[in-house]
Amino acid sequence: MQGRCLFYNWTEMFCPFCNHRDSRVLESRLTGEKSVRRRRQCEQCDKRFTTYERVEVVQFLVVKRSGSREPYMREKLRAGLTRAVSKTTITAEQIDDLVDALENELASLGKREVPSTLLGEFALARLRNLDEVAYVRFASVYRQFRSIEDFIVELNTLKDTKTLLSSTEQEEATVSSA
Ligand SMILES: [Zn+2]
Repeated sequence: MQGRCLFYNWTEMFCPFCNHRDSRVLESRLTGEKSVRRRRQCEQCDKRFTTYERVEVVQFLVVKRSGSREPYMREKLRAGLTRAVSKTTITAEQIDDLVDALENELASLGKREVPSTLLGEFALARLRNLDEVAYVRFASVYRQFRSIEDFIVELNTLKDTKTLLSSTEQEEATVSSA
């Protein structure tokens, strides 16, 4: 096997060549009950390396709106996101990366209980950067829209942001039928 093999904690995945923090996952394979082998490519120096990562179960309680608590379940969040991204260009790998990043973010908070709303907002913030359609779909579930008005408000917020970002692309010619 080429390259250096390092055992990392999954929360710290620095490039062994340049110490850059962000890398792309090229391939993931479970190598045991609690470890996963990943081929990664550094986003700064483009070199590839292999990591053997411990799969640590993130343990905290999710506090639901009703006040009831349930253990955080990665699969549940993953399933919700997967539904939201169906028919978009987002890959399963991107979802895994998103959930990884989100779990890191939550772990860094060091809390034992996290409101479900916060979990949803964290996911939304990341999803928004990936795909707008998926973002709105996920938002409709996690923000529990009570009416079509709520949904329209969300769409308009999204549209406004988009308008700000690309105000030059606004002129779309409409061809009227004869
Ligand atoms: Zn690097």
